[in-house]
Amino acid sequence: MNTIQMSITVELTVFPCEWTLIEGGGLQSELKPGLDLSPRPVLDGWAVRNDFLAVRPERASAVSAFLNRTGVFSRASLTSAPIPSSVDDFRGFQSLIRDLVLNRPALWSQIMQRYPKRKAAVLNMHRLPAFRIDWSREVPSAIVLDTRVLAAILATVQIDHWRHATFRPCAKPGCWRLFEARGTNKIFCSDKCAKHQSLRRYRAKKSEAGQQRKKKPLPDE
Ligand SMILES: [Zn+2]
Repeated sequence: MNTIQMSITVELTVFPCEWTLIEGGGLQSELKPGLDLSPRPVLDGWAVRNDFLAVRPERASAVSAFLNRTGVFSRASLTSAPIPSSVDDFRGFQSLIRDLVLNRPALWSQIMQRYPKRKAAVLNMHRLPAFRIDWSREVPSAIVLDTRVLAAILATVQIDHWRHATFRPCAKPGCWRLFEARGTNKIFCSDKCAKHQSLRRYRAKKSEAGQQRKKKPLPDE
């Protein structure tokens, strides 16, 4: 067997698709006609994954904004029952991708049992990334190209496991981001989250101290 070292990128070529929120949290998708010849944006797979995991599904408009920016979500996105079919379904995919990032692929079939069968089927559809080699530079590199968000995200997850990268969920409540541990003992995804939490702790301490002072009996009591 030969071993080579090669850099690899994952590129999502956005396939324009219009997502509309319907009443009750449902989602509808419609492919935009292919007459538009303007170049399609190409997004970095890891950036798309980070944005996807950070979307707060309690803001339905943030879900549709993400989908409209990234285009076709999965191979099953353009059927009469699009995927994701609702804001809740989107949230389910977020939680599934988090589980796949945090657990190695040998455990995935076990993890999939916790999710509806339909999600497992959609996942299997996008599971095998194919790559091509870019020979245009001195040192060739590998590129995974896809037009579906889920395929690009799954390719990044698999490459991260392949290179033994480990991820952690951010410790700030309400932040859904994952970050690469890189041998550190960091618990927050960013300085912003760390500052936010330390301010929160400081305020909690201050108000606790205030309560204590109130409880103290006055000298002439
Ligand atoms: Zn965070």
